[in-house]
Amino acid sequence: MPTIQLENVNLYYDKGKPSEVWALKDVNIEINKSDYVAFFGPSGCGKTTLLYLISGMEVGRLESGKVLINGRDISQFSKKELAIFRQIGVGIVFQQFNLIPSITVLDNVAFPMAFLGISQTRRREEAMKLLIRLNIQQLANRYPHELSGGQQQRVGIARALANNAPIIIADEPLGNLDSENANNVMAFLKELNEKDGRTVIMVTHEAWSLKDVKKIFYMKDGIILKVEEPKAQTEVGKSLSSYYYKGLYPQHSKKELTAKSISYLFLRGYSLDEIKRFEFFLSQRLENKIDAEVFKQVLDRPFKDGGVGLWKKKAEKIAYKTEELISNKKEIEEIYKELEQNPAVPLVEEIANIRNWLLEGYKGKITGIQKMRIDEVIGERIRKIITSENFQKCLTFPKKQFGIGLSRRMAQRIIEKLESIIDQDVNLSSAQSISDNFAAKL
Ligand code: ADP
Ligand code: MG
Repeated sequence: MPTIQLENVNLYYDKGKPSEVWALKDVNIEINKSDYVAFFGPSGCGKTTLLYLISGMEVGRLESGKVLINGRDISQFSKKELAIFRQIGVGIVFQQFNLIPSITVLDNVAFPMAFLGISQTRRREEAMKLLIRLNIQQLANRYPHELSGGQQQRVGIARALANNAPIIIADEPLGNLDSENANNVMAFLKELNEKDGRTVIMVTHEAWSLKDVKKIFYMKDGIILKVEEPKAQTEVGKSLSSYYYKGLYPQHSKKELTAKSISYLFLRGYSLDEIKRFEFFLSQRLENKIDAEVFKQVLDRPFKDGGVGLWKKKAEKIAYKTEELISNKKEIEEIYKELEQNPAVPLVEEIANIRNWLLEGYKGKITGIQKMRIDEVIGERIRKIITSENFQKCLTFPKKQFGIGLSRRMAQRIIEKLESIIDQDVNLSSAQSISDNFAAKL
């Protein structure tokens, strides 16, 4: 399935007025995940309009036709889905750079991560890595007006990379650059496609800059005149792209409850023998080889008689919690399946249920805003958009600074619960360390 598809798209500006412009006429295009494409054509032919559509803006302006992202019609996205798509689905490099003048280079690059609920310290760390990758780390504390055009464009590129978006869009990225800087930018876009495996979409009106792209859409007066594929597809960085993708849109993989993580949750302070036996019976229970009643009995039975030898009340409590965990695990699996099909579905109710479960026993007050923030980060953690470490930071970050403001102890309890039931095979931190290693080699 193409990553991006436009079907019979027509778009007008100022429809019905004397100034009416038919900006896109019956546009049909397909862009695949491994593509590096360019839209090429004279000024005013509709290139920027097309990019806006692809990046989820101006969709409401469509006269007819469809924009599909991974097969889903973008006009059917909820507001929240659209917001998520814009925040983590696409990274945009603008011709005019569009840097925020009043904050430093480092904070400009860190800025898009603010929407992901990542703490400021961590945002700055990640932003610094990007500056290093673009070889402008020495500019971190300067302000945009203190930089040359070429330097500002690098900052713009670093910012576009900040949320690890699988799709990078660059609107005339060379327009304001001298030839040396233009060449550097071109080389970097190529690398993002070939080595990082990102979908790269560029708009240009300079013919020389088409040398590396794999597909060229020639445009004139809102029409796609022809599509050209200059050379056979080269070997595209398969490995890295798959990691990035898994980080953002995790695959549904085998998710058996691990008896280990649950026993860790329940049995700290018990002897290794007791834990081992508990894990044994727990696996039996999870595989449905024993029922809830038998499970409770063996927890209570003395150790020398083959049981786990827990105190009766403790046995009952753990048996009860286990059943609860099993049913919550199902809920998580369902959310996971849903996310696999529709990565951006908000799942408000399901996540609220999980939140209530995680906060169970919490004596403090939780405001509406805190709830919203908690739900956001739970959703992101389930989707593996943020690491467990960042999840913790979001939970404990002060309310005044838009964090959730829970105590470290409470956060720790929540994390242990949530981590015990979410799938551990695929996570962003492994993708992150791979991309870090990769960046270090450059
Ligand atoms: P390009 O990026 O290829 O230069 P654009 O997509 O910016 O072209 O513009 C396509 C056409 O739509 C042009 O004729 C332009 O004047 C017109 N246009 C673009 N944006 C607007 C707008 N916001 N309002 C009215 N007309 C617009
Ligand atoms: Mg333009």
